[in-house]
Amino acid sequence: MATESQLFQNNSVKDLLGKYEGIWSTYHAQGLLGWDLEVYMPEKGARSRGVALAQLALMAQKMTIELKPLLAEVEKATGLTDEEMGVARVLKRDLNYFEKIPPRLIEDIQRTSTEATVVWRSARKNSDFNAFRPYLDKIVALKREEADKLGYEKHPYDALLDQFEEGLTVEDADRVFSKLIPELRRIFEKVVASGRFVGVPALESQAYDPEAMKRVNAKLVELLGMPMDRFRMDVSTHPFTSGTSMDDVRITTRYEGKDFRGTMYSTVHECGHAIYGLQVGQNLAYTPIERGASLGVHESQSRFWENAVGRSREFIHHVMPTLKENLPFLEPYTEERVYNYFNSVKASKIRVEADELTYNFHIALRYDIEKRLISGDISASDLPSLWNDTLDKYLGIRPENDAEGVLQDIHWSGASIGYFPTYSMGNVLVGVIWKALGGSGPLAGMVERGEFVQLREWLQQKIHRFGATYAPKELLRRSFGTGYDPEPLVAYLEGKYLT
Ligand code: MG
Repeated sequence: MATESQLFQNNSVKDLLGKYEGIWSTYHAQGLLGWDLEVYMPEKGARSRGVALAQLALMAQKMTIELKPLLAEVEKATGLTDEEMGVARVLKRDLNYFEKIPPRLIEDIQRTSTEATVVWRSARKNSDFNAFRPYLDKIVALKREEADKLGYEKHPYDALLDQFEEGLTVEDADRVFSKLIPELRRIFEKVVASGRFVGVPALESQAYDPEAMKRVNAKLVELLGMPMDRFRMDVSTHPFTSGTSMDDVRITTRYEGKDFRGTMYSTVHECGHAIYGLQVGQNLAYTPIERGASLGVHESQSRFWENAVGRSREFIHHVMPTLKENLPFLEPYTEERVYNYFNSVKASKIRVEADELTYNFHIALRYDIEKRLISGDISASDLPSLWNDTLDKYLGIRPENDAEGVLQDIHWSGASIGYFPTYSMGNVLVGVIWKALGGSGPLAGMVERGEFVQLREWLQQKIHRFGATYAPKELLRRSFGTGYDPEPLVAYLEGKYLT
């Protein structure tokens, strides 16, 4: 057995982990097939890849259900280590889903979302929300049914949030957004009035040589100290991180050919996810807790490196020589101008184009809509006007049409409801981490001295080494003595944009 460890002494847990290696292997295979699908697979390979991935998912489900009697043994045991309890908690969550959701509903969600995604693509192309509306209504009804089957205490949306961010509730998210949004409004208005952070339009439209940016990205990877015998970087349409095991973590980036900050910061972002995966405790290998604590905690890692570290003056100072060496058009630009280009603030209709300051408005909007759709307070037909009015209220802009408004994201067509809030929770946790490091002064000092190894080790001690041993709220309480507290993020943004 691969998991010989002091952490796992209980005999039922050892049996459980022995059997889990089969499940782990299906996830390993799914991860690698999924990565290949995005990076190398020829188009016509999609059909057979779909069959293989679906079969592997079914195998994992079947094997998980078979663990039920052993899991019941473990739950009766006393004196378990935190890691042993973590294993039981994570497996119980997986099992719970398979037990409570009938195959008929899983199939219905799968089939509806496959159809809906096709319809969504053409609806977005034609900016025709009415074509997509009945599918969204159907998806909401199915997700509502899923929530009812899973069970919840206060709000049906809690059951959906919990799928992506364990333990997160409407109460938590309402508290975060009701504090965050007015503060962001205040900062955003001041930034706009100040005329600072307006960006450098010439660089936004500047074409670059992809080969040159490949060299820059390689240098970034080197600067962040990515271990090249356990990590690799490739190219795909949508950048992502794939962890098939803690010793084989892969990221992708993309080269759009202009506006070079896009490829640069998506590389740093994915490196942040990769560092988390690479730094999970070695003795958790092949167990159900060899994964991040949650999507929000994972996103906090990518955004910490991308924004708090990567967009700082000190980091930019480190990379300026590399940028100037590879991008001849930067010759006339000062470091300050490049800083401005990397940190411009602009009201955008499109979420994925939003900057660090305005991003959370886009999430608050989607959160509010999802919550009210699931509670039945609104229906899909209310969406276009609600969307446009809310964006106007937050950022003072209105989409011209539904393609650049309510139809812009793929998520709802894929039946992903409850996922968006994890982005804002990740941002909120960047604030928590920033505060725990001592705030801007100490962090800037570390980045200035190039202490990326120390920074990685600190994150490993506080977050990474535990894997999913603890649920996110418990991890935050232990490591930071707090929860999803938006105050530090506000302080961080205020310091960055208003001083
Ligand atoms: Mg991410």
